Amino acid sequence: MKVDVTYIIHSCFTVEFDDEVLLFDYPRSGFSTKGTKRLVESKLKGKNAFILSSHSHGDHFTADVFDIEKAAEKAHFVLSDDIILHGKSKPSKLTMIGPQKKVDLNSITIETFESNDAGVAFLIKYKDKKIYYGGDLAMWDWPEWSSAKRREHVEVFEDVLNTLKEMKIHIAFSNMDKRLKSWAGPKEFIKTVKPTYFIPMHTFGNEGWIEDLVKEDVTDNTEIFKYERPGDSVELDI
Ligand SMILES: [Zn+2]
Repeated sequence: MKVDVTYIIHSCFTVEFDDEVLLFDYPRSGFSTKGTKRLVESKLKGKNAFILSSHSHGDHFTADVFDIEKAAEKAHFVLSDDIILHGKSKPSKLTMIGPQKKVDLNSITIETFESNDAGVAFLIKYKDKKIYYGGDLAMWDWPEWSSAKRREHVEVFEDVLNTLKEMKIHIAFSNMDKRLKSWAGPKEFIKTVKPTYFIPMHTFGNEGWIEDLVKEDVTDNTEIFKYERPGDSVELDI
């Protein structure tokens, strides 16, 4: 199966199948650029869109995403239940989802894991293919934290990796943050889960970090999507 993945900005990506498209974590204006909305609309055009947000933080969600729905043929929103929508007009098709839940939306099913930051991580099944999208679930081991707090966060991340390694993950999105010694876990992720494709995210526009991950030679049989600027796409064979 051929799938097109496009880097929109920061942690925002689209994954396009023949008739369906997934949109992840469309951020608020401070984390996007002028062309972000138009780029996303072009990817949703004529498709059955699933629009997901992993948690409420501004770099992962804005209620402005509800406007995007018009670009798609059909749209179903799936939002983490830490997102509060008071006073906002809600889209007609909306599923709020908490951690450790499963929902069947006909062409896709979605399972969630509890994040060690906020909200959830998603495991999406489309036909027999599996796509993992971590949100801000990552190996957060900030040096200024106590060792107990670091251990607690790392364990949550490692538990999810140990669950994922028992199944075949075709595409995995997980964080890369070079401010941390661990880079927030991409090497650990690839080594443990061995996805077919790994897509680093949450770079705050530092796309150049990905070059360093590629150089690390941690990939075995995993291929890394090395995007350089918003709008970069890759066709994956899964
Ligand atoms: Zn974030």
